[in-house]
Amino acid sequence: MPLSRCLVTIAQKQIKISEYKFVEISENAILNKIIESNKNYASKFSGLSDSGKPNMRLAILTCMDCRINPYSICDLTEGDAHIVRNAGARVTEDAIRSLVISHKFMETTTWCIIHHTQCGMHALSEHLISDLLKDDLESAEFADGEWKNPIRKSSKNTKPGSTYGEHVHWFTFEEQEETLLADISVLRNHPLVPSHIDIFGFIFDIDTGNLRLIE
Ligand SMILES: [Zn+2]
Repeated sequence: MPLSRCLVTIAQKQIKISEYKFVEISENAILNKIIESNKNYASKFSGLSDSGKPNMRLAILTCMDCRINPYSICDLTEGDAHIVRNAGARVTEDAIRSLVISHKFMETTTWCIIHHTQCGMHALSEHLISDLLKDDLESAEFADGEWKNPIRKSSKNTKPGSTYGEHVHWFTFEEQEETLLADISVLRNHPLVPSHIDIFGFIFDIDTGNLRLIE
């Protein structure tokens, strides 16, 4: 999807700015903020290394959760590590693709998978996701302890719900530590992952900022 369309899609949704407060942000406000922020960034830009090889020979797979900042958590800067992200920090086919490329062509030899407490993928199930999507493609809401599709009085969306979600592996999970260790095992045993890669798993504590090594 072109960036402009993607931004419009994002802008049409409510943007959560705190746990209890929501505001509507117009598409122009978001687009303008990105363009203005980038002008500011570029004005101070001093260039990056010509090489895309991570200085620390490190790749991190972590969750897309907007509260997680792997650069801050691990005191990294641009050029130090590859960062691969998806919902739940799961070892999906695409995560494996990125990690294999990371080692084969960019020489990373340490891979860290960083899960986190309060992960949304822990509160979801494969059936729930596909059921909600079958009914309605727009954002669900968490109310009375469960995810539901709200009753909408109006919508800009013109597409109906779809059963396509029944054919997607969403990689939800129940037991976090077991899931993390199983994912590490999948990587270690993968035919395209060499045996000398160091693979570590952590759970980041949203409340304390601590990383806990899972063994
Ligand atoms: Zn998460």
